[in-house]
Amino acid sequence: MTFRDDVTRSGGNARKGGGGKGMAMGGGIGGLLLVGLFILLGGDPGQVDDLLGGSTDQSQVESAPGSGFTECKTGADANANDDCRLYYTSFSVNETWASILPAQANIQYVEPTLTIFEGGTNTGCGAASSATGPFYCPSDQNAYFDTSFFQQMEQFGGENAPLAQMYIVAHEYGHHIQNLEGTLGLSDYNNPGEDSNAVKIELQADCYAGVWASYADKGENAMLEPISDAQLDDALTTAAAVGDDNIQKQSGGEVNPESWTHGSSEQRKASFLDGYNTGQMSSCDYLGRNAYQNS
Ligand SMILES: [Zn+2]
Repeated sequence: MTFRDDVTRSGGNARKGGGGKGMAMGGGIGGLLLVGLFILLGGDPGQVDDLLGGSTDQSQVESAPGSGFTECKTGADANANDDCRLYYTSFSVNETWASILPAQANIQYVEPTLTIFEGGTNTGCGAASSATGPFYCPSDQNAYFDTSFFQQMEQFGGENAPLAQMYIVAHEYGHHIQNLEGTLGLSDYNNPGEDSNAVKIELQADCYAGVWASYADKGENAMLEPISDAQLDDALTTAAAVGDDNIQKQSGGEVNPESWTHGSSEQRKASFLDGYNTGQMSSCDYLGRNAYQNS
């Protein structure tokens, strides 16, 4: 249990999308896996369309932001149901950044949209399928999640546990923060490597997820119960699972730091903890901007 059972939220800026059938896929399990890994936790969604080679059909079912979650009335519902957990996490992350971002970076927070989809969906960055993995699209300021991804996580040694799922949401919202800061575009997947901007941007998103977690269970408006050590372990295990070295190993390849885009397992865990232990964006300043004040 992560959410306080009795918290209630409604409306908001999450929606359900997708339901598209007949997505053109990128060639069998290997292809799907590659696409999933490529985009895992916010790859370069501009290339999703190319990789998937296709368009979604027109039979998309989309709800307007804030609707489509009538079953998610309380924190207890969020504790029991993946869709409700993602929906409630969007409130927790939004509420946290609405206070932190102005205080620590002098930037007004603007909520992104969170889209939960099944099958496939059209995005501002091209067509996405359940093989795409979670990602943030800057052009429509929208974070996209297919909940089937969470089962896929377990194949790489991640935990399909509540705080692990929420970490992934908070990571994608971290990219939204970078978009608001004007730094997201520094990431360049064509120039990977352990010291690359691509890796720094990804590690910073992990750190921002940690900043969120450090606030989410504190204060009278906190939506979360105090985060337990076991829950923290779930998030860290998942952060490690999506490290580039682990993914390279799990995929049967060699560990090659020159091709990293997201950072190693150790780096990803450490970055989450940088944010979690301090609650300060300044702890996540891997780009060396010196643009933050502590609050
Ligand atoms: Zn990312």
